[in-house]
Amino acid sequence: MYNLALILAFVFLLAGCSAPSVTVSGKSDTNTTFAIAIHGGAGVISKAQLSPEREAAIRNDLERALKAGQAILTKGGTSMDAVVAAVNILEDSPYFNAGKGAVLTSEGHSELDAAIMDGKTLGAGAVTGLRQVKNPINLARAVMEKSPHVMLSGNGAEVFARSAGIEMVAPSYFVTPERQRALEAAKRKENASGMNQGEMRKLNYGTVGAVALDRNGNLAAATSTGGMTNKKWGRVGDAPIIGAGTYANNASAAISATGWGEFFIRSVVAHDIAALIEYKGLKTEVAAQTVIDKVGQLGGDGGVIVMDRKGQIAMPFNSEGMYRGWANGNLKPETRIFKEK
Ligand code: ASP
Repeated sequence: MYNLALILAFVFLLAGCSAPSVTVSGKSDTNTTFAIAIHGGAGVISKAQLSPEREAAIRNDLERALKAGQAILTKGGTSMDAVVAAVNILEDSPYFNAGKGAVLTSEGHSELDAAIMDGKTLGAGAVTGLRQVKNPINLARAVMEKSPHVMLSGNGAEVFARSAGIEMVAPSYFVTPERQRALEAAKRKENASGMNQGEMRKLNYGTVGAVALDRNGNLAAATSTGGMTNKKWGRVGDAPIIGAGTYANNASAAISATGWGEFFIRSVVAHDIAALIEYKGLKTEVAAQTVIDKVGQLGGDGGVIVMDRKGQIAMPFNSEGMYRGWANGNLKPETRIFKEK
């Protein structure tokens, strides 16, 4: 009897150690909760310019990305694999400012940034200024898993990409007529009268990101972007900066941001949200809103997607819209664009 009590107490202790996991049907260490959330960028999304066909195509790609991540999580796959699968689909879609269809620099080519973080190990990988890597998030992951570094940039990052067997493409692969028109319009404005805050705001939207919680209670975050239209001088935004646009920690949450990067860097948005959850015990929704409000007070705009260790999702934004979606467990994926719930 005494032995049985001891064994039971030991089993109980073991189960407790792996929080937030719960025991399901005799399998310890397996969480019933798994979820994924994604964004396809925040910013000035004009309802007038969003034709029903375009909206349907965008929602379709968001849904495909969610389903790809969800399929991995359902089978017990890792949150890391899920966020990469979701981001790859959005990078390959021409509708978002990442991978194919990324915005153009003042010189007329794409310069791509991405970052990924593993909430279990706090491992992280980031890349900036890529011109020929088809899926920058894959290179960010390779930096995390196959190099001793966290962040690689430009030409050196692409030398590493080749050695790591990452798929490369010609710079022209990324360029779409829509982004060429946007660059021409930005240049005309800049040459005529310079850009005011409102016009600057229109230069960034469409960054993609994903956050996920897997059945083992592990969180991951990934973000991939082309940055801002007409960017110069090797400008780098928040997306590849760990703690600004991307962060994940099993102790708090996984976060991916989109918006006017300069403000997100200065507000250290992603880590600030995680810190409010971990150190101050704020509810995920309150922590995320607090930091987005702070970005707004500085004059910036954008939004975040946040997944906490219990699978609670928050998606606040202070821009007109944010392409976003989520899938809880096996439930049907949901997508939204404007402020509707
Ligand atoms: N945050 C990105 C950047 O500033 C842009 C975006 O979210 O669309 O590089």
